[in-house]
Amino acid sequence: MRAHAVTPPTQIPAVRCVSWCSEGTGHVDENSRVDQWCESEISSVPLELEDVRLEGEYFYTTEIGVSARRGWRQNPCVTLRVDAEGRHPGIDTSFDLTVDEAREIAELLIFHADLVEGK
Ligand SMILES: [Zn+2]
Repeated sequence: MRAHAVTPPTQIPAVRCVSWCSEGTGHVDENSRVDQWCESEISSVPLELEDVRLEGEYFYTTEIGVSARRGWRQNPCVTLRVDAEGRHPGIDTSFDLTVDEAREIAELLIFHADLVEGK
């Protein structure tokens, strides 16, 4: 019996990364186009007023993260990540926002923060 030569997998063609992509290499190590998304660095804020949870050797907090993201065949968007594992186990999700929606939420947060501070 003759052994067949095993051809090593080849990389998929690169995508053109956006200027703010934290990787910037075209994502050739992914397995499909849908996995070739560009994302900026994620900025996260741990929420001091939310609960934390210690489970075994893991410590869970609740935090909100924000990044810019462009998925395959998608327009760039702002992604809002909600990791609520400290208070609600299993809640770790994200929302894609238009630029207008992101600005509107940011303005609302500032407005209400000013309200709380009596400004
Ligand atoms: Zn990229």
